[in-house]
Amino acid sequence: MAHEIVMLGTGNAFLPNGRHHSFAIFDRKHIIDAPPTALISLRQNGININEITTIFITHLHGDHIFGLPFLLLERTYISDREFSQPLTIVAAPGARKRIEDLCEIAYPGSLQKILSMIVWDENAQGTTVDGWNWNRFEVNHNDSVDPFGYSFESSKGAKFVHSGDSGPCDSLYSAISKTDLAIIEMAIPEWVPSSEHHKPSDIQKLSERLPGVHFIITHTFIDSKNSAMPKITSKEFPSHPSNVLHAEDGFSIKWENKWIF
Ligand SMILES: [Zn+2]
Repeated sequence: MAHEIVMLGTGNAFLPNGRHHSFAIFDRKHIIDAPPTALISLRQNGININEITTIFITHLHGDHIFGLPFLLLERTYISDREFSQPLTIVAAPGARKRIEDLCEIAYPGSLQKILSMIVWDENAQGTTVDGWNWNRFEVNHNDSVDPFGYSFESSKGAKFVHSGDSGPCDSLYSAISKTDLAIIEMAIPEWVPSSEHHKPSDIQKLSERLPGVHFIITHTFIDSKNSAMPKITSKEFPSHPSNVLHAEDGFSIKWENKWIF
């Protein structure tokens, strides 16, 4: 296949039943964020930690970066003991210091070598070695965690947007209007008084406004449909238009000249 995105986790910070934290990988080597459940999500999908070449950081909330010390510890002591595999972290200026502090709190001294070998890319746009152009843009979330989304486009023409954590905002919707696939968070139910996340009604409006875009819902507050446990927040899925897909953990989508559903 030409390209593939796998939703390794699809839950919000509170871990709805049957879901790991929101977490995506594309082409089995580029990951978007590194949540606390990153290591188990990668293990369950048979992905070697040393095959990850790029980590794109959307923002600095714990459910998006607290898995980083474990990924770096695993590479150091298990899958890349020779430190031979290149690793780039793409993150906004300011993130590096906070991530390095996090790693030092988690495993004092043990991650210094791998941290010294990471290539940090703080530019707002760039290209991966395998030809994915990416562009980072500000979104509407808690400003103290430097929130961003990303647009991606491969050399073959595959395109998608990842919202990071964001409520409705023009920068995100402008990026989505230029793509045909959007991975978008829907973290909260209607009754939560916050504009910094999407609610089902926001997704409804957006998907009706952009009918040519396929939306994959992640970072959801709704339990997995496969869970028989008593609900955490909700078990009810909204009846969204057909261009909206509420992903379960492990959902994958392939691209062969176009995204195949
Ligand atoms: Zn967040």
